[in-house]
Amino acid sequence: MWLKYGIDENGTLVNISDVTKGKTSLKCPYCDCKLTAKKGKIKEHHFAHTKQTCRPVLTREFPVLPLYDNFDIHLSSKDFQQLKLLWKEYGSAYYFISPDLVPSGLIRAGLLQKNISTFPYQYEFTNLGKIPIGALELMLFNEVQEPLLLKKLLKLELAVEHALHKNAPDLDYIFTDLKLYCAQFKRILSCRLYFLEIYTNQDTLHKIGVTQRPISERLAEIKIDLLAHYQSVDDIKVLGTWEHRGNVELYFKHRYRDFNYPIGNLTEYYKFQTEDVKIVLGDLQQMKPKVLNSVEIDLLKVANERINVKM
Ligand SMILES: [Zn+2]
Repeated sequence: MWLKYGIDENGTLVNISDVTKGKTSLKCPYCDCKLTAKKGKIKEHHFAHTKQTCRPVLTREFPVLPLYDNFDIHLSSKDFQQLKLLWKEYGSAYYFISPDLVPSGLIRAGLLQKNISTFPYQYEFTNLGKIPIGALELMLFNEVQEPLLLKKLLKLELAVEHALHKNAPDLDYIFTDLKLYCAQFKRILSCRLYFLEIYTNQDTLHKIGVTQRPISERLAEIKIDLLAHYQSVDDIKVLGTWEHRGNVELYFKHRYRDFNYPIGNLTEYYKFQTEDVKIVLGDLQQMKPKVLNSVEIDLLKVANERINVKM
């Protein structure tokens, strides 16, 4: 697995994005060994063991949040190409798809479904099926992802209960999986999503991002980042902020990747035409305010080191 969290001296799980690269005082949540933060340009940012990598990290899958940073839904590259083609030829034009064009793998994965009002039956894209292409609106993306986030939490909790009951030898690792999942879940819930319009001496830019701090602090940092690339940053307008919506940032990047405008190593900037900005902002504004359910409220309350399992 790519280990994304280390444990600090207080027992708190610390995300790789919150540390600078190089040796750290953090420890592996599975084996307690010292960690080094690897933050290069090619591989995903992760923690490596300063000495030897432990078995759980070598053999276990990192308990990722569903549809958080990977949107290909485990499709083979052939199925993915097929899905893209069907979207281009049919889905994007609201045409139904004839059954003989539909690979069975895409139906099994829940990406295409029968439209019951057509006879003989034809197929159409499900909301899930639009996600690998980035065609699903942000509001509907939340509706698809939220139940999956909770379902996986429940699954990990049950795995711990089961391991406790059986007194399984890998109980500690299974419990660590749950803690890592909870830390990630808590992180997206405690983040505020923001969308900015930025005027520099050369360009008008847009930026998506998340923060757990007051937005004014972020704006000051963003200005400093941009002044390394532009003569002046004349104004930064906050077009919107959305509480508890850290889950959306990476899907936004996936959905609007064609408009991405990298500036040096800054990757969260976009160049939209004036008309497109209205559409993008509309997409964001249609998201319903996030109402936390009781499980999510509990997650936000607990410190990362004290995640309890309901017994
Ligand atoms: Zn380890």
